[in-house]
Amino acid sequence: MGAKGWFILKLLMFQGLFVSRPQEDFDFFYLVLQWPGAYCDTKRACCYPTSGKPAADFGIHGLWPNYNGGSWPSNCDPDSQFDRSQISDLVSSLKKNWPTLSCPSNEGFKFWEHEWEKHGTCSESVMDQHDYFENALKLKEKANLLQILTNSGINPDDGFYSLTKITNAIKNGIGFTPGIECNKDPERNDQLHQIYICVDTSGTEFIECPVLPRGRCPSQLQFSKF
Ligand code: AMP
Repeated sequence: MGAKGWFILKLLMFQGLFVSRPQEDFDFFYLVLQWPGAYCDTKRACCYPTSGKPAADFGIHGLWPNYNGGSWPSNCDPDSQFDRSQISDLVSSLKKNWPTLSCPSNEGFKFWEHEWEKHGTCSESVMDQHDYFENALKLKEKANLLQILTNSGINPDDGFYSLTKITNAIKNGIGFTPGIECNKDPERNDQLHQIYICVDTSGTEFIECPVLPRGRCPSQLQFSKF
């Protein structure tokens, strides 16, 4: 083969490598943790899972791939259906740490399926279904949010706390600024509902958020009992 032939062959090999390397089609993740008391206090119906009332702790809502501009991909791969056999070793931990609160009462597979299909299929180049759920569980444990808040005197006691105090407690605890999302209970109290922590594209390390979600929180918010 002449020099030109080698050049073309090398070019094709390089292209092949390039094309087959997994491409990240998002910029970072939000780990979204939810306070069950606030979910259940809205007008929306809430049902405890079949395994019983979840612990008074933050639960995982999801691990959401996001773009730096603030938008996000969703339902990326209809061919990658949720397969519960792939996460059978994680189910007991998922029931504890990623509890469903939707009605009618169920085990949780519907919620996990929804999160996988809507969000997890958009980060499949980085993690398969098992990794997706396992990484989210590890990140929740690493964040240890309730402990961080109670250590700072912020307790789920229906009391009102300043948004700055909550944000700073978490920032000091994990090293990065979180996004805080509020909702309103039927009495129109603004409650701490969800906390967003940014995670790198490997799904393992916390990072500073490229963009924070619009949280709709006033300066004082209620940390509801559960
Ligand atoms: P997403 O589609 O991932 O943005 O999540 C929103 C959907 O998740 C809504 O349909 C919510 O009602 C549902 N959802 C949020 N938290 C829970 C929960 N703890 N259990 C069951 N469904 C939930």
